[in-house]
Amino acid sequence: MAKKEQETAKKATKTSSAKAKKKASAEQTEVQAVADKKVNTDKLAVADGDLSAEQKLVNLYKLQTMLTEIDKIKTLRGELPLEVQDLEDEVAGLQTRIQNFQLDSKEIDTTIGQQRIKITDSGTLINKYKEQLENVRNNREFDSLSKEIEFQGLEVELAEKRIREYTAESKIINVEIVKSKALLEERQADLKSKKEELDEIVSETKIQEEQLREKAKQLETTIEPRLLAAFKRIRKSARNGLAVVYIQRDACGGCFNKIPPQRQLDIKLRKKTIVCEHCGRIIIDPQLAGVE
Ligand SMILES: [Zn+2]
Repeated sequence: MAKKEQETAKKATKTSSAKAKKKASAEQTEVQAVADKKVNTDKLAVADGDLSAEQKLVNLYKLQTMLTEIDKIKTLRGELPLEVQDLEDEVAGLQTRIQNFQLDSKEIDTTIGQQRIKITDSGTLINKYKEQLENVRNNREFDSLSKEIEFQGLEVELAEKRIREYTAESKIINVEIVKSKALLEERQADLKSKKEELDEIVSETKIQEEQLREKAKQLETTIEPRLLAAFKRIRKSARNGLAVVYIQRDACGGCFNKIPPQRQLDIKLRKKTIVCEHCGRIIIDPQLAGVE
């Protein structure tokens, strides 16, 4: 079997490399120990085993940084489409509101027009009755015409009252229309810029994300599967997605529990993978993270 031979050859290269063996023995953390055991049996490229413990931690931290970047991109995208959707809904709502106000306003104008016609009609009748008054033949006719004139006068007053009421209502509606139109303009401008922002981010981050994913994939091949699996597991359970943190003010950068001095020294030696006793995150020294 050619494949098996190849593997055996790889293993031979691996075990014959005393240097690699020495380095491997320096790594004593549980995760690392299991990972190393796997290195000997798995079909891992020899170069992977040759990486120093320090380089492994650097790679792991680099991977963490890349994945955090991808998380940020996702967050950006995750919120913007929602914001755009909300604005689109609001714009549509405002347009409907303005339309309804305009219909109301039109109806009021029609009603006011009808009241004006009523006033004109009553005025005509009043003039006609007044002319007739001059030629009345008896008291009965006079009373009847006077009553009609009085009645039409009341009709005019009522119509005028209605016109005043409708005009006041119309004014309120028109103010609302102006307000809604201003708000609509504002929201449409917001929508336009948010849409542009989203389009930009989508097209921009698409390339960025692809590049990050490609780099992350390459980095992952330099990390032992066991360690990588542990890393992914920690990342998943960590609320902020951070599996590798550095010491911050003598404390774990993930859960902020104090790290005993001896443990801090071990971390700074960069000889093994050390995890936080409290949260399980992998802790590195700040210098390795490029912070100090
Ligand atoms: Zn912690």
